[in-house]
Amino acid sequence: MPRPAPSAVPETRATLSLDTRVQFLPGVGPRWARVLERRGVETVEDLLYYLPFRYEDRSHVRTIAALEPGETATVIAEVQSARFLRTRRGMTLLRLIVADATGALECFWFNADYLQDRFQRGQRAAFYGRVEEAGGRRQLRQPEFELLEAERGMDSLKLGRIVPIYEAIGPLTSGRLRWLVAQALRGLPAALPETLPAGVLAELQLPPRRQAFEQVHFPGDDTPLGQLATARTPGHRRLIHEELFFLQYGIALKRRRALAQAAPKIEVHEAVRQRLKEMLSFHPTGDQKRALKQIAGDLASGHPMRRLLQGDVGSGKTIVSLQAAVIAMENGYQVALMAPTQILAAQHYYSARERLGAAGAALLGEPAPRYRIQLVTAATRGKRGRQQRALASGAPQLVIGTQALLEGQFQFTRLGLIIVDEQHRFGVMQRFDLMRKAELSAHLLVMTATPIPRTLALSLYGELDTSVLREMPPGRPPVVTRRVPAGKQAELHEFVRGQLEQGRQAYFVYPAIDESPRLELKPALRMAEQLRQVYAEFQVALLHGRLKEAEKDAIMRAFQRNQIQVLVATSVIEVGLDVPNANVMVIEDAERFGLAQLHQLRGRIGRPQSAGGGAAKAYCFLVPGTQITETAERRLQALVATHDGFELAELDLKLRGPGEFFGTKQSGLPELEVADPLRDEELMAPARAAAEKFLEQAPADEQRQFVRYLQRRWQRKYGLIEAG
Ligand code: ADP
Ligand code: MG
Repeated sequence: MPRPAPSAVPETRATLSLDTRVQFLPGVGPRWARVLERRGVETVEDLLYYLPFRYEDRSHVRTIAALEPGETATVIAEVQSARFLRTRRGMTLLRLIVADATGALECFWFNADYLQDRFQRGQRAAFYGRVEEAGGRRQLRQPEFELLEAERGMDSLKLGRIVPIYEAIGPLTSGRLRWLVAQALRGLPAALPETLPAGVLAELQLPPRRQAFEQVHFPGDDTPLGQLATARTPGHRRLIHEELFFLQYGIALKRRRALAQAAPKIEVHEAVRQRLKEMLSFHPTGDQKRALKQIAGDLASGHPMRRLLQGDVGSGKTIVSLQAAVIAMENGYQVALMAPTQILAAQHYYSARERLGAAGAALLGEPAPRYRIQLVTAATRGKRGRQQRALASGAPQLVIGTQALLEGQFQFTRLGLIIVDEQHRFGVMQRFDLMRKAELSAHLLVMTATPIPRTLALSLYGELDTSVLREMPPGRPPVVTRRVPAGKQAELHEFVRGQLEQGRQAYFVYPAIDESPRLELKPALRMAEQLRQVYAEFQVALLHGRLKEAEKDAIMRAFQRNQIQVLVATSVIEVGLDVPNANVMVIEDAERFGLAQLHQLRGRIGRPQSAGGGAAKAYCFLVPGTQITETAERRLQALVATHDGFELAELDLKLRGPGEFFGTKQSGLPELEVADPLRDEELMAPARAAAEKFLEQAPADEQRQFVRYLQRRWQRKYGLIEAG
């Protein structure tokens, strides 16, 4: 194990503890303290968890004469001259000549306005970068640098060693943070209270805490740089494991608490089996059968189900969830089905009525539902009083709505099953919230169309069992995806007309991420106007988030009945709509959508035709805006190339990172401090196993101690477990 560098932390004075507020660190006044606190760094402990994001090997400082072109090196030199130049293209260039006892070297930076006045003649600095040769002269292009006189006495932290580089926090530069961390380590006692159970430390061979902190902040010279770059020093592994262990322990506790509850035993007897058969007009796929079997097992177990049903758009999740609903209703229980938006709730309502209607009723026009199904949305708010009484009397058996369903206005008398159509719109936090509000003893089935890579699944959905629908139902027409080159609008409109003339329907989709400012709606409004003229002989309607619920509802229904042929919509149709006759989708300004979102959108078309409909091809056209970045172009190309949601999700995650992948605000991803769910994929499973083993085997009083730590340090971040 690499030794911690002795010069950084020569001795400890034990004047600080982990709980000391950063304000009391030497050199930190109220102003810095506020800056740090705003970033969540409130205590010395928080500061130690603020890890360097990279390292520079300055352990072997080179003389200028010894530099070889092509190598990456650190030199320490004195500034001889600094000159600002302007290139012909208007770029600024800073050219610095620096020298040590052995020779001179040129350093330069482009777009260097920010470096104005940074260097004075005679200034000593460390420069770090790749050595190049031009015109017989050695150069460093855009080197990293550090002025050496700025913080006196701290040279030992940044020279002649592997130097940690921190992301600046406001005015706190990397150098200042490094200095603060060193102060913290100096002031702390030689041994820090252990947070991980001894068994876990031993099993995973992790170093004690203090050693880990020293190693990640001030690694010894013999630490392999590769380990530092990949966060795999023993110190890093320890801190990552610690975080993942507590995340998984919290989840496991939550899970155990849920499973310890008694829940209604809901069973599939012969009559139920019959009903399940009747409601399908097709053979379920193998995956659907397996998922339903797992769900039925959970429902009959006597403990609350906590299950995630994961499957790409169109994989047949909704049907499976309705079958689960039927099982519960046939057993005399109420079912709540929640969707993220009212439009989706309405959509579920209509398809549930159709699916669950008595056989043959469809021939008589409106299907007469066999079950009492009720839609509850904000649009029906005025009727709440009545709805509430109706619910209390147990009248409706399947209640469909948004989260408002569980907001307390509604009284279920025999709520047995909650189905959440998540479609990646609810985050983990909301779900924890929801589970707290819900009768703990109700069964819970969460559906998601986001193809979540396994690692993320463990952190996001770790408290749920998972059923996956990978197999697509047969009879799905292929979706042909094309990126439309600029200037082909007329041809595109002609093509769509051809489809409309064959009796099909089309979506035109516009990004309107935030629909509140009127501005965002303008392009959609304008386009609807234009399309009304282009398709004068067809019905064109505009659907957007600012319409009244009743209006949205009417438009959706009309589209479903083919009374509207062209639906111009903002992203409100992103998920859930199921209109098999619509086989064309034109997505405008497509680059403004994320890949996962585009895939979801595309999932709206290429739905299997009802009997006799024939499997016509479906077409998705991506129309990029005028300015499109290279990354955006790659996203569009990926979409053209593949229809595999998992593949696209992985790519999206790589291109955009988890926050954006799930939609920043709604990501619901716990904000991990040290671990990175992508980088640390392989550490997630061992951490989970360790947490589960600890929960199973450790004595209760030992566990209490760790639950307390979890509560103290993690509760505010993760809300993982309630007090007690
Ligand atoms: P998801 O909710 O996963 O997007 P749905 O349950 O809405 O998928 O199903 C998509 C479409 O496929 C619906 O029109 C549904 O009727 C149909 N479908 C579902 N399962 C099957 C199956 N096993 N065979 C044929 N069609 C199916
Ligand atoms: Mg669905």
